[in-house]
Amino acid sequence: MKVWMSLVILSACLIITGCNQEESQQSDKQSEDAETKETQVEPKEEPETDTADRKVSEDGSMIEVEDPERMDVIVNKQRKLPEGYEPPDMTVPEVPFSFEEFHPKKQMREEAAGALEELFQSAEEEGMNLVAASGYRSYERQKTIYENSVAQNGEEYANRYSAKPGTSEHQTGLAMDVTSREMNFRLEQSFIDTEEGKWLEENAHRFGFVIRYPEGKTDITGYAYEPWHLRYLGEELAGKVHEQNKTLEEFFGLYPTNQ
Ligand SMILES: [Zn+2]
Repeated sequence: MKVWMSLVILSACLIITGCNQEESQQSDKQSEDAETKETQVEPKEEPETDTADRKVSEDGSMIEVEDPERMDVIVNKQRKLPEGYEPPDMTVPEVPFSFEEFHPKKQMREEAAGALEELFQSAEEEGMNLVAASGYRSYERQKTIYENSVAQNGEEYANRYSAKPGTSEHQTGLAMDVTSREMNFRLEQSFIDTEEGKWLEENAHRFGFVIRYPEGKTDITGYAYEPWHLRYLGEELAGKVHEQNKTLEEFFGLYPTNQ
């Protein structure tokens, strides 16, 4: 019953807050969650390294990841998914969402969806009130967002503030943005000041997820702190990453530090 009541309340609130979140793409600050960005700070300049490890080509283009279906695939501004890549075994996790109707962004890959359900159940048992906001984001969707930005702001501006198609981790089907009623379903850094945000930071790894864009790691991840963005890795790997307190780039040795 609790879930149903939440859904009713959620959908009522959605009328008030949901719509402008989805279409706030014209906003100019880049974040991994370009659809719903709110309080992002401007990302710092990326270091101008060009080593074999990062595999950044001379013209600034990026490499394409070779095995996008791996659970430990690393996607970032230097490593993009193949054009049009669609993850297999997509499903909608049975968790409360910030909106009711079907949307492709409700989807995750099966293993990640199952893990998210366990995470939500455990959180609920501890009195948390988590709400899922945005999972899968297709290549086409990213392309539309990027091209809208180019049309509105010009290419140079778009390149600086909008993620290029294929570079969103949401395309892997392994990411989900999570918020709460207390946050009014917004994705903002102040989430970490709430019980739900803190709980996620401390417990997500037990269910195979990490906070992908930690605070103070913008130089490495390319993104400002996103306490709401969960990335599925599987319990073993997520546990190690959490324990070592590293970004995925550091953990996998993809972030050179100029020797
Ligand atoms: Zn996200």
